[in-house]
Amino acid sequence: MPISKASLILAVAALSAAAQSPVPSTNAKVRAALDIIKADNAWTLQQQVELTEIPSPPFKESVRGLEYKRRLEALGFKNVRIDSVGNVIAERKGTGTGPTVVIAGHLDTVFPEGTDVKVKHEGTKLKAPGIGDDGRGLTTVLSVARAFQKAGVENVGTIYFVGNVGEEGPGNLRGMRYLFGNTLKGKVDYFISVDDTELHVVSRAVGSNRYKITYKGPGGHSYGAFGIPNPIHALGRAIAGISDIQVPTTPKTTFNVGVINGGTSVNSIPYEASMEVDMRSEDAKSLATTNDKIMKIVKDALVAENARWPGSRAAAAKISLVIDTIGIRPTGGQSDNVPIVQTALNAAKVLGFASGTSASSTDSNIPISLSIPAITIGGGGHAEGAHSLGEWYEDGPNAYLGVQWAALIVAALAGVK
Ligand SMILES: [Zn+2]
Repeated sequence: MPISKASLILAVAALSAAAQSPVPSTNAKVRAALDIIKADNAWTLQQQVELTEIPSPPFKESVRGLEYKRRLEALGFKNVRIDSVGNVIAERKGTGTGPTVVIAGHLDTVFPEGTDVKVKHEGTKLKAPGIGDDGRGLTTVLSVARAFQKAGVENVGTIYFVGNVGEEGPGNLRGMRYLFGNTLKGKVDYFISVDDTELHVVSRAVGSNRYKITYKGPGGHSYGAFGIPNPIHALGRAIAGISDIQVPTTPKTTFNVGVINGGTSVNSIPYEASMEVDMRSEDAKSLATTNDKIMKIVKDALVAENARWPGSRAAAAKISLVIDTIGIRPTGGQSDNVPIVQTALNAAKVLGFASGTSASSTDSNIPISLSIPAITIGGGGHAEGAHSLGEWYEDGPNAYLGVQWAALIVAALAGVK
């Protein structure tokens, strides 16, 4: 049967309406939740101050995690659990069968034990390391949970409110790896991470591979043992090769030798030389290609340095190569056209502001690499100096918009009655 142009247009319209989760701005209970968020902005800010003042260094998030659990329980969640890596998870069961949505903020900071995290009030500014990143995100998740509880929002799909570990550098996204690989494996349809402040969407994941590469040999006297392979010379060969790699500008792909170490004295053939290498891309394939090129260069440098020195003495003093992984953050192919991104942009419009999109490395890297739709948004307000001791946060006139935005996106994705 021939399909008329009109029915085709209708079908396409229906498809795109179904693809995007409608923003439930007229649902009475969602409206009530949004009103609570605005009216109780002072509660939100107080939580942000109190959570920030609990130190949470990488791999030492448990004290803040326990307190986060306690605060979720105080909102009436009966089933708050802490999984074996330390993620705190509260479940708000859906009334029916709808998409399962996770909204998360990260518990960890970059600051080591002993850092003064007491919040100092300077005029309208709140000064403390971690107050924005991710004091704001953690608080946004808590505040959305509270508003849904108080307003009795009837979400169709189940919502998980999560405070997760291991987002910052050394953590290497271990909280998300465990959440998606174990705790909630196979259960999540949509993921939203709230990280830091402002009103923006990170829609694309920048993947990164980071390694420490070490050349090792016996070393010796620069004059007396001359004629054996030299680890620093091998490292030099490798760096020269890496310097000349060609990478695409689109998708943006980068590489960097950021740290070099090695050597004992000017008159010693060193026994060790190392470098730390970072490469990044929004595109998994481009990242893999760059990774392969660097690995080949590093191995070729070893072979070339060992081959450079003939004779039995050199043969007995061959150098070796050790490659340690510092961190691997996977990426995926999510584009700005996917429904979760469009839903977030529409929710922003409903609340009266426009948001742009960007690419970054966040907790969303893990779901995106697993083809699970994911975004990272800011929790509103304004902050500067993230990852520094001088970090400060300012609520401004409409910080509540960030929290309302998160609530509206979650409601849209899970569906509401
Ligand atoms: Zn963060």
